[in-house]
Amino acid sequence: EIENKHFLRSGLFTAGKIPEYLKLFAKLLVKKESSTIDFDWKHKTLGNRSGTAHIGPMMKHGKVTGLQAYIKDTTQQKEFEKTLIEAKEKAEENDRLKSTFLATMSHELRTPLNAVIGFSELIDRGMDIDSILEMTQIINENGQRLLKIIESIFEISSLEAKKPELKKEVFSLDDMFSILGNSLKSYIGRDKRDRYSLVYMPDNETEVKYIKTDRYKLEQLLSNLLTNAAKYTPEGEINYGYSTTGRDITFFVKDSGIGIPEDKQAIIFEKFRQIDDSYTRKQDGIGLGLAICKEIAKILGGELWLESEKGKGSVFYFTLPGAVAERPESNKNDKSYALPGMNGNSVLIVEDEESNYLYLKTLISKTGAHISWAKNGEESIEMVSKNPGFSLVLMDIRMPGMDGYEATRIIKEMHPTMRVIAQTAYAMKADREEAYKNGFDGYISKPIDKRSLYSLLDEPEKPVI
Ligand code: ADP
Repeated sequence: EIENKHFLRSGLFTAGKIPEYLKLFAKLLVKKESSTIDFDWKHKTLGNRSGTAHIGPMMKHGKVTGLQAYIKDTTQQKEFEKTLIEAKEKAEENDRLKSTFLATMSHELRTPLNAVIGFSELIDRGMDIDSILEMTQIINENGQRLLKIIESIFEISSLEAKKPELKKEVFSLDDMFSILGNSLKSYIGRDKRDRYSLVYMPDNETEVKYIKTDRYKLEQLLSNLLTNAAKYTPEGEINYGYSTTGRDITFFVKDSGIGIPEDKQAIIFEKFRQIDDSYTRKQDGIGLGLAICKEIAKILGGELWLESEKGKGSVFYFTLPGAVAERPESNKNDKSYALPGMNGNSVLIVEDEESNYLYLKTLISKTGAHISWAKNGEESIEMVSKNPGFSLVLMDIRMPGMDGYEATRIIKEMHPTMRVIAQTAYAMKADREEAYKNGFDGYISKPIDKRSLYSLLDEPEKPVI
């Protein structure tokens, strides 16, 4: 039995631990041993502290007369240790993320490339046309998948590098959602379509039909959210639409899919971060979609957030303040996807790659225009000088021999009013500016989007990006 226990009230010992200490002290007294303990304590002015006590028996003439302790305040040392451990863990986590990033990128780039290379090597003359078509379809799909990756890498870099200009326009929400709905269906594919219930839910209480913002960016943001909804919902419901409060509009994309655990809800908006980054991951993707959405939300001046529970699905919201608009006087946008009528017009396509020429020819011949092909800059000048009646020249920029800039300069000298449009794989903003500086009347980037091309042909004054 220990007499004189006043030391226990010294504030050095956490009240809950006193019985444990008493047991230890009794043992030290009986066995005449010493021991070291770590403890937490509270200083009157400095607050919570850490300490170490070295405790041992006090002896007089071979008899134990009490306990003595050497006590040291170890708060600073403990804090230093904690900082070191955190730094080490952070370094290990960064290292793990770097390896995961490399493994994901390698997998995501190699898989479609293997298909493109593998199937294009398989095709040969002796094959029946159905098999060839099936293989080209696979090659095309995988090419598109690669293109998406490349585009998203450029996209996030340019969004982060500088604030892009906004091209605000008034447009119909029903129109935008009908395009988004169709893309969602084609993303899901006909074979899996019956696994989903897809419902568009516009705001029924108010008559909101038009908004004013950068349509392309908003479509990109919502399209990423819709694709994710389908990607992370093996089967079930995907509802999407909007609601309004005054002139503010909140879009939502709701799915009944795998959901997102609470501790992961912030990191998925970071670049290259995914919830499941293991080798056994079921879905493709490199973890840039939501990072792009976050940047676009910032640029559009809106707020993006989510509610989700693991296993129960997710809802992503995007609020755009003050975007609700009046109906525009003439709604040109609605017809911008229509096929332009170009009967009686002649179009010259300047393109060294035959496959690119054939693609453009197929698209443009649907408008009724007559089409000619020049395989390089020199040929285009020869053809224009023989036939000054071309109403439009679609000029590739990089070609062997004379490039598109030089050819355009000469054509413009001969026929200053002839429309020359650059069609090029140099798709950065600076390339577009370069094209305008070099006298082009418009610019369209490869791979050429059908709708952008028709809209460009339909509205001669409008440059299309
Ligand atoms: P990616 O889909 O290419 O991996 P994202 O940036 O679009 O990249 O998404 C990051 C991660 O967030 C995904 O890997 C996935 O784990 C998670 N995620 C995104 N949307 C959803 C959703 N609707 N349901 C469940 N998880 C989602």
